[in-house]
Amino acid sequence: MKTMTCKQLGGPCDVAHHGETADEVIKAQDRHLKEVVASGDETHKVPLKEMKGRWRHPISGMAWYRDAKRGFADLPDD
Ligand SMILES: [Zn+2]
Repeated sequence: MKTMTCKQLGGPCDVAHHGETADEVIKAQDRHLKEVVASGDETHKVPLKEMKGRWRHPISGMAWYRDAKRGFADLPDD
């Protein structure tokens, strides 16, 4: 199990996501962005837009995805 924060995944806050794989924390971040923006948060709007763009443009989104995966791989286990 590893931990990545919202900030490490391109967001503005220090909320921590836990997961066994990079995909899990990326999905958790996606959920987190949607939840806080839905509750009226302004600071997560741009990261949410970027995240949505990545799903829509998988090729150009791939570089970010690879970096996130590499960052996750470099983290120590909790
Ligand atoms: Zn956040």
